[in-house]
Amino acid sequence: MELTIFGTAAAEGWPAPFCRCSACQEARRRGGPNLRSRSGALLDNDLKIDFSADTVGHMLRTGRDLADVRTLVFTHQHSDHIVPSELEWASGPFTNTPPAQPIVVFGNSQVMEMLHAQFPNPAHANLELRPALEALVPVTTPTGDTILPLPADHAPGAFVLRLTRANGKSLFYGHDSGLYPAATLTALSQQAPLDIAVFDCTYGGAKSSNKGHMGVDGVVQMAQALRDCGAATEKTKLIATHFSHNGGLMHEELVEAFLPHGIAVAYDGIVVRG
Ligand SMILES: [Zn+2]
Ligand SMILES: [Zn+2]
Ligand SMILES: [Zn+2]
Repeated sequence: MELTIFGTAAAEGWPAPFCRCSACQEARRRGGPNLRSRSGALLDNDLKIDFSADTVGHMLRTGRDLADVRTLVFTHQHSDHIVPSELEWASGPFTNTPPAQPIVVFGNSQVMEMLHAQFPNPAHANLELRPALEALVPVTTPTGDTILPLPADHAPGAFVLRLTRANGKSLFYGHDSGLYPAATLTALSQQAPLDIAVFDCTYGGAKSSNKGHMGVDGVVQMAQALRDCGAATEKTKLIATHFSHNGGLMHEELVEAFLPHGIAVAYDGIVVRG
């Protein structure tokens, strides 16, 4: 299983467009992994997670495309994770190689409402909109994956996701969320250990309550919670992402902070194999 994380910033990107704070100026100066775009990931070539307005840019920068995507799953309704009009590019004349079958789309009730409003006739857009996801109720994708939506500490109805591929490989996609609710940790503990786990680290090195999002200390705490409940082993790849300029720590400092805890720091375009 191969996970590509294309966008690793919080909602405003980092550097943020209207901001000249020291963290944004330093990101402009250092460049490289400190230039972070809005959310989006791809599992192998066929399962897309979230679709921000930066998705076209993600494909341009990495030389990848989304022509093999069969399933699209959304975590929640925030605009750094979904911009419905951007899904128009999956149909003609915006693609000359449209998907052979409609892309099957999953999301919470808010997300599905946004998509139905944008696409009154989803089939014309090569989309198949499934009923809204419900917490702790697994659904199956066209390629035989299982999506288990888990409660997040974030916006109303937001989910973190446990994704199991048809071959048994598994991913916990843990953002956006503060410290994970007990029901989420319990559900993860009842399944096989994860191959990859991705954590929300919006608050970076800033002092925070770890509510709504997490900082470095919250991620360390949740990684340990996953180990303690058996959801993570020494083989699980642990990755922090979704960083905001308000967190202060640059990529190189985040790497240093997480190193003793066995947690890697995502950058735009990182490919994680598990
Ligand atoms: Zn977000
Ligand atoms: Zn800034
Ligand atoms: Zn959010």
